[in-house]
Amino acid sequence: MGESLVGRLAKRLISQVTDPIKIEVCRGCLFGCPKGIIEPKDLEMEILDLVDQLGLEEELKEHLPDESVFHPTLCISISGCVNGCSRPYIKDIGLEGIVSLRKNQEKCNNCGACSEVCQEKAIHLEKDGFIINSQKCLSCGECARVCPNGALIIEKSGINLMVGGKLGRHPQIGHPIANFLTKDQAVQKLRQILAFILQEHRQGHNVEDALKLLEGSNQITSIGISTQ
Ligand code: SF4
Ligand code: SF4
Ligand code: SF4
Repeated sequence: MGESLVGRLAKRLISQVTDPIKIEVCRGCLFGCPKGIIEPKDLEMEILDLVDQLGLEEELKEHLPDESVFHPTLCISISGCVNGCSRPYIKDIGLEGIVSLRKNQEKCNNCGACSEVCQEKAIHLEKDGFIINSQKCLSCGECARVCPNGALIIEKSGINLMVGGKLGRHPQIGHPIANFLTKDQAVQKLRQILAFILQEHRQGHNVEDALKLLEGSNQITSIGISTQ
């Protein structure tokens, strides 16, 4: 027989109270969301490994502020696509999947499916093809998924990385610090960021302060994070 509901709720409550690190993943990866671009669960596993290797959880636990019982110390969120269902832009560290498109204008028959599906109204159809407004395009890939002729195809997927998002008394949207990373590059950047948090925490800075330092251009440069 499975665990009782009360048991599960108690376990969840205890983990919320005792875990200084919270990793949230959009549900798309669990239920095969058709909009998913990356596998958030894979990244979650990599982050858990990094946290273990660095001993970050132990470090954060050692200096928990009194009110930590109500708040996790470090929140990380991973979304499979730009819909951001796990809200990566309001977490300390956020990651989301994006695509790059390849255009084959000669295959376009002006059917209009792409412009109909684009929620950003980023596609303008012309007599002899289409134009994508790069200022409006969010790289979700929906247009390529509906194009019947291969005039728009998903060339490759990537990961956007942002830091410093939060709600609370002074809400803030996370700052993008690197985009279109491969999974290995994202893991490398995450290792650098988590190691930086660890180093700063040992010197008395909490996660929020460490991330503020990181967002300063010098710090970002010094740990090799691209601001492309
Ligand atoms: S973030 Fe994207 S992939 Fe994840 S559940 Fe939402 S729509 Fe699906
Ligand atoms: S990738 Fe998404 S936002 Fe960009 S043009 Fe296609 S449907 Fe629109
Ligand atoms: S869906 Fe494909 S074929 Fe149709 S208008 Fe868009 S790019 Fe052209």
